[in-house]
Amino acid sequence: MPFGRPGGHLINLLDLDAAGLAALFADMGEKPFRAKQALHWVHQRLEGDVQAMTDLSRSLREKLAATAEIRGPAVVSDTTAADGTRKWLLDVGGGNAVEMVYIPEDDRGTLCISSQAGCALDCAFCSTGKQGFNRNLTTAEIVGQLWHANRALLADGVSAKGGPEREPLALEGEAHSAKGPPMTAPWVEQGRAPITNVVLMGMGEPLANYDYVVTALGVFLDDNAYGLSRRRVTLSTSGLVPAMDRLRADCPVALAVSLHAGNDALRDRLVPINRKYPLAQLLAASLRYLDRAPRDFVTFEYVMLDGVNDSDLHAHELARLVRDIPCKFNLIPWNPFPDAGFETSPRSRILAFQRVLADAGFVTTIRKTRGEDIDAACGQLAGRVQDRTKRHIRIHSAPAGTAAH
Ligand code: SAH
Ligand code: SF4
Repeated sequence: MPFGRPGGHLINLLDLDAAGLAALFADMGEKPFRAKQALHWVHQRLEGDVQAMTDLSRSLREKLAATAEIRGPAVVSDTTAADGTRKWLLDVGGGNAVEMVYIPEDDRGTLCISSQAGCALDCAFCSTGKQGFNRNLTTAEIVGQLWHANRALLADGVSAKGGPEREPLALEGEAHSAKGPPMTAPWVEQGRAPITNVVLMGMGEPLANYDYVVTALGVFLDDNAYGLSRRRVTLSTSGLVPAMDRLRADCPVALAVSLHAGNDALRDRLVPINRKYPLAQLLAASLRYLDRAPRDFVTFEYVMLDGVNDSDLHAHELARLVRDIPCKFNLIPWNPFPDAGFETSPRSRILAFQRVLADAGFVTTIRKTRGEDIDAACGQLAGRVQDRTKRHIRIHSAPAGTAAH
């Protein structure tokens, strides 16, 4: 059973934000503050069983269990790379799977999550786009990624610093069930949650799944749930202009825009949605976004494709194009996949491109390649899902972890 798919007879609590939970409890004739208790249990205690919510009366717990459950992802594989990057492949039903990646760094732990199974926007260089669109992930499937990754990392004793905790959090309720009302979980109070940053840069175009994504963002930001600051949640879009304006009004988190070209003719080819929302509109929307954004710059992502968009002339053109927009560049070495028809720019070319942008005054980083031995790079995610899913079915009883290789 896919973990967030509507249609199951029980409501998945991972699907509900504070308002949704308040409505659920109101339907049961309960007070709205129950929603806050439930949020704490699900997202701070990372509880997986409604019966463990010990500050709800036994009769309420039973009523709740008859209506709702906490259903996390079905994990197909869970693989850790030599550099600590960890990737999970999650079954979302119908032969589809999505991936999420945890990237530990000295001062943060970032989770790269997916928002759709496949993607309809068909960018020329993207393996997710090449799979076509399957469906939007539900709120539960989006929130469930952060819920599951935090649980898995805490169970392994991983803290935000990337090292083992002195006192790993006991999961499943056994150690805290007798302690009265749930307080904010210790790892939240001490700022030690393993995942400090979330980026929507996995599979799919988050703004094409607007409602479910924005509900999930609300849960990420809610102080009664994960309590992440807006600056630490980054949404990456290929440029759905009307939805960028909606996001600006509804839930302005940090924004990354996939630019990839400095003129419309080239961008039309690489990012087909540009034909609908060309650069002038995209840049105007980026600028509008900034007056509500939690950061005072937009990050422009730029994938480096050998001989396509990576010359010094392209860099100069790009610098001219965005000269009036407070922004930073993130150059992404392209991750190859079979039959893509592109090559990755040589390192020397990427450095030269970076130099031109830096000389023009733009802070320009080059994305580090992480987890190469497990194909964990953003944009590479689920590039071989169909393969892996089939293989998973074929080797159903093989030991966990082997399905990813
Ligand atoms: N759909 C959104 C977010 C997901 S893709 C978007 O397009 O922004 C996250 C980033 O990875 C985007 O900048 C995307 O252009 C880039 N990307 C896609 N395929 C890639 C590949 N094969 N190599 C490197 N980056 C890639
Ligand atoms: Fe979709 Fe983003 Fe891939 Fe384009 S780059 S096809 S928008 S996931």
